[in-house]
Amino acid sequence: MDFQLPEELQLLQSATREFAQTELKALARKMDRDEEFDTSVIAKMGALGLTGITIPEAFGGAGFFDNRMHNRAACVALEEVNRVCASTGVTLSVHMSLFSSLLNKYGNEEQKQRVFPKVANGAWLGAYCLSEAGSGTDAGSLVCEAVRKGDEYVLNGSKLWITSAPYADIFIVMARTSKEHKTRGVTAFLVEADRQGVKVGKKEKKMGIRGSATCEVLFENCRIPAANRIGEDGKGFGIALDTLDGGRIGIAAQAVGIARACLEDATAYAKQREQFGEAIINFQAVQWMLADMATRIDASRLLMYRAASLRDKGESCSKEAAMAKLFASETANKAAKDAVQIFGGNGYSKEYDVERYFRDARITEIYEGTSQVQRIVIARALSG
Ligand SMILES: Cc1cc2nc3c(=O)[nH]c(=O)nc-3n(C[C@H](O)[C@H](O)[C@H](O)COP(=O)(O)OP(=O)(O)OC[C@H]3O[C@@H](n4cnc5c(N)ncnc54)[C@H](O)[C@@H]3O)c2cc1C
Repeated sequence: MDFQLPEELQLLQSATREFAQTELKALARKMDRDEEFDTSVIAKMGALGLTGITIPEAFGGAGFFDNRMHNRAACVALEEVNRVCASTGVTLSVHMSLFSSLLNKYGNEEQKQRVFPKVANGAWLGAYCLSEAGSGTDAGSLVCEAVRKGDEYVLNGSKLWITSAPYADIFIVMARTSKEHKTRGVTAFLVEADRQGVKVGKKEKKMGIRGSATCEVLFENCRIPAANRIGEDGKGFGIALDTLDGGRIGIAAQAVGIARACLEDATAYAKQREQFGEAIINFQAVQWMLADMATRIDASRLLMYRAASLRDKGESCSKEAAMAKLFASETANKAAKDAVQIFGGNGYSKEYDVERYFRDARITEIYEGTSQVQRIVIARALSG
């Protein structure tokens, strides 16, 4: 067993780290404050190859898929991006781990040739539409419907909580094609954002990841060619669940990145802040918070890479992905709480980034399956 990253991933790590420090650091606070995503970062991530990590080289991707290390590569990139900016992190995660991975696994050759070259280089941003007002954890109860009419489907309904909706160029939409079967009546579709009948609705005012736009997306008699159907009719729910296994590993990476930001900032602060004539890092109460943070972050990262390695090999990893997301997201929240504590009053001020980390960490326990859902997945695997 080798705990070192392969050389290609070490190179990706240092390039992404430098990108995050030079390009994202200054933007992260501004995006959070203004609640506005700076879309120029998408092209920059494209130029670096990040937007094509989960796409085969033949379609313009970065080559990690061809070497069966795309899930680990996504983890490497997402940890570094989220270390600095979780709003950019979720944008990249949805694009790579939900949109591109799904199309790569379940799309046909024509769809990949049509869409991937633009998605791989960041000219197009992908988004993923599963959730609805009445359908969250119970995703199989979705009602947005697609009715077949000749060579087309007509899409009607609305999706809620859609990450990147206002600046996404293309969506994967899960829609109901049969009312008779619940989960077996769901089908996946590619829907270009500029298609007639697609409208981006209300933007949510959020607690965290405020730089990333989260919106309602409405479909009103939106006609899409049958050629845009991904996989077979009625197979969309299984596709969505399988894709979420990969997505959860991406959210684990987001949580590890946020937790690492908490640890690094809190350690630096504790070394320079003095009380009672000495640096507060000399106080055992502070040391223990940092020691627990560091230990839980390493454990989270190991769980994350275990799940990603299994998925890279094409093996089932539902339980392992759930464990990684559950543990990493709870770690990020504990780390953020303790980082604010170590900063004292300053931790409560917007002058320092830990206040943002605290708000950003919260979402990792909610989207792509809440912590309750991850425990259900793990318990079901245990009970067979
Ligand atoms: C910022 C943000 C971005 C998002 N981005 C996207 C996106 O891009 N695309 C997309 O499709 N969706 C997206 N979502 C939706 C997200 O995946 C859902 O919010 C999440 O799955 C939870 O669903 P819900 O909000 O409807 O909560 P609910 O399902 O209503 O759950 C409420 C509570 O009940 C608990 N609960 C529900 N069922 C059970 C059960 N069986 N057993 C135990 N407890 C249960 C939950 O754990 C939770 O605590 C996003 C959400 C947010 C907040």
